Amino acid sequence: MKKTPAKETAAPAKKATAKKATAKKATPAKKSTSARKTAPVAKRAVAKKPAVAPKKATAAVEDVAPAKTVAAKPPRGESRTALVRRARRINRELAEVYPYAHPELDFENPFQLVVATVLSAQTTDLRVNQTTPALFAKYPTPEDLAAANPEEVEEILRPTGFFRAKTKSVIGLSKALAEDFGGEVPGRLEDLVKLPGVGRKTAFVVLGNAFGRPGITVDTHFQRLVRRWEWTAETDPDKIEAAVGALFPKSDWTDLSHHVIWHGRRICHARKPACGACPIAPLCPAYGEGETDPEKARKLLKYEKGGFPGQRLNPPRAYLDAGGKPAPPLGSA
Ligand code: SF4
Repeated sequence: MKKTPAKETAAPAKKATAKKATAKKATPAKKSTSARKTAPVAKRAVAKKPAVAPKKATAAVEDVAPAKTVAAKPPRGESRTALVRRARRINRELAEVYPYAHPELDFENPFQLVVATVLSAQTTDLRVNQTTPALFAKYPTPEDLAAANPEEVEEILRPTGFFRAKTKSVIGLSKALAEDFGGEVPGRLEDLVKLPGVGRKTAFVVLGNAFGRPGITVDTHFQRLVRRWEWTAETDPDKIEAAVGALFPKSDWTDLSHHVIWHGRRICHARKPACGACPIAPLCPAYGEGETDPEKARKLLKYEKGGFPGQRLNPPRAYLDAGGKPAPPLGSA
C-alpha cells in the first residue's frame, strides 16, 4: 500500500537512507534466549550475505530510517559501556523512524490527560480519544466531573469498557483534584500517585507530557521491547524503569518512552513482530523472533506504517505535516 506519505517523505528518513549505503557490515545481533527458535533464520541470512537482514528490513519500510552500521555483539558478552551505546543508538534510530512521536491520547490540558490516561486501561488509545470529546464537552473541569451524575458519565464512557469502574475512578480523581489540589493537576510525582486510580505509569505520562518533566512510561510495549533488546532482564515495572533510566540521560526519558511505545505498536508487535520490516534489526538481539520475510513483514505493519490512520483525532501538527492521518471519530471506525 502506498499510502504512507508520513514516512515516505520524512526528511530524517531520507538522511538515514543515505547513511545506509555505508552500512554493509551490519548484522542483526544474535542469540537472545527468546530468539532461539528462529536463530537459524538470522544466522542463515548473516552467513549468506551479511547485510541481508538489515537491508531487507529497511527496504520493506519505505524510506523509514534504516539502522546504521554497528558492530553487533551478542548481548550476553556485552559490556556495560557497549550496552549503553547500543541502547542509545536504538533510541537515536527510532527518533529518525518516528520523528513525530507523541503521546497518543488527545488532550488539551493536564486534567484531560490524567483522565484520558486512567480511561486507557484495558482499551486502545483510539477508543479513549473517540470517547473523551463528549466527556470533556460536558464536564470540562475537575469540579464539573466531581459533581456529575455517575449514570450519565457511565453512558459516555461505555465504549471504553469497564465503564462503571472507570466512572468511579474519574469521578473520584476529580473530587480529589477539586478538594485537595484546588482543581489543578499537581505537577509532582508524590502528589500524583496519591490520586485515586493514578499509579507511577499514569503519573509519568502526565509529568512527561503535560509538565515537561522527564519520565519513563513502562507500559506493556515498553516492557516487551526492552526485554527483547536485552536492556534489562527485570520484570517488575519499577525495576525496569530504574534499569532503563540508568542507560539514558534524564532529558531523553520522555521521548525515549514515545519511541519505544511507538515501535511496539507499529512494528515490534507482541505476537508477530515484523522483523523483516524493522529498521533497527541490526541492533536487536531478538531479530528473527518474528517474520523476517520483508513482504510478509510489511503486511503486519499497523497504523501509518501500513497506511492506516493514527490513534489521535487531533494529532500534533508535526504528525500531519509528515503525512500522518487523524483517527476517525466514534462510529466511523
Ligand atoms: S521487530 Fe522487534 S524483535 Fe524484530 S528485529 Fe525489530 S525490534 Fe527486534
